[in-house]
Amino acid sequence: MSKVINFSAGPAMLPPEVLRQAADEMSDWHGTGQSVMEMSHRGKHYMAIHATAERDLRGLLAIPDDYAVLFLQGGASLQFSVLPMNLIGRRSGAADYVTTGDWSKKALREARRYGQAREAASSEGTGFDRIPSPGDWQLNPDSGYVHICSNETIGGVEFNWIPDTKDVPLIADMSSNILSRPIDIRRFGALYAGAQKNIGPAGLVIVIIRRDLLGHTLPGTPPILDYAALAEHDSMINTPPTYSVYIAGLVFQWLLDQGGVATMEDRNIAKAKLLYDCIDASSLYRNRIAPEDRSRMNVPFQLADPGLDERFLAGAEALGMVQLKGHRTAGGMRASIYNAMPIEGVQTLVDYMCEFERKA
Ligand code: PMP
Repeated sequence: MSKVINFSAGPAMLPPEVLRQAADEMSDWHGTGQSVMEMSHRGKHYMAIHATAERDLRGLLAIPDDYAVLFLQGGASLQFSVLPMNLIGRRSGAADYVTTGDWSKKALREARRYGQAREAASSEGTGFDRIPSPGDWQLNPDSGYVHICSNETIGGVEFNWIPDTKDVPLIADMSSNILSRPIDIRRFGALYAGAQKNIGPAGLVIVIIRRDLLGHTLPGTPPILDYAALAEHDSMINTPPTYSVYIAGLVFQWLLDQGGVATMEDRNIAKAKLLYDCIDASSLYRNRIAPEDRSRMNVPFQLADPGLDERFLAGAEALGMVQLKGHRTAGGMRASIYNAMPIEGVQTLVDYMCEFERKA
């Protein structure tokens, strides 16, 4: 069967070159006579794969040496707990959360188990259709950190700017927009990202954290969830998710070959513009997010008549376009157009949308 055009929000499509290379190397990595999956994580081959993945990620995002890079397991959701376990006790036992959609709300809910997690600002009152204006944020200078979700995967709301939180470290859940654009890591105390959108297999999560923030874990935190211990042991307190790190490493090489995250940003801007222009020009489709806060990665849209949803999806699928149905809590449609989605995929969608509207 020929490949589909996969608009899934995650696990999402990977670059075909990466899948081909992984297939070629599946049972014999570089003439070693073994699959990466079969290698000891303490052996020289895997250690080289792991070190190269970290080096390439550092290069792609210009991560300074005083930041640790951790390759962990348990997905981004586990970090909703691990983060406060490691950082909420740093100062007053409090942290500020800005809620802009489902994921930042979940992060706040989990953090409340570990300390005084406060909602510093929220756009819930307007249905999470924007980033709350920075002048309205109630930030407390005694907080251990300020948490944001840089891209809300379900709602399609993205920070297109980096908040200034003064001396309080800014921490971001970047699961759905990491590596989609250059970022100044120094503006963040830490960030984390589940892999299954722009990096690789689900379950792997990457944490990047300034080293001076390490070492403040709450009593009772298991060593395996202690960032300081994990950094000290190169993320290998136990067996790391070796195959996932290998695939992530292939994606990082692919990104470098493409020209890095600046090239990705240009492409992502072009893809998002193509789709939003189509939506804005139509009277059938609508995106409800404030234009300046619209996500380049996840583009939700509603049909004026939800009775047409099933026909729209069936027609798309007949043309090989899958996973366009919106999140079950949001309804409508959502096209996720991460780094691996070529502009031709978006063009095929836009052509179909125009044609569907013409016939509707
Ligand atoms: N944060 C964001 C922004 C996400 O999009 C997701 C998953 N879609 C998560 C956290 C949770 O990730 P996981 O399923 O890996 O725990």
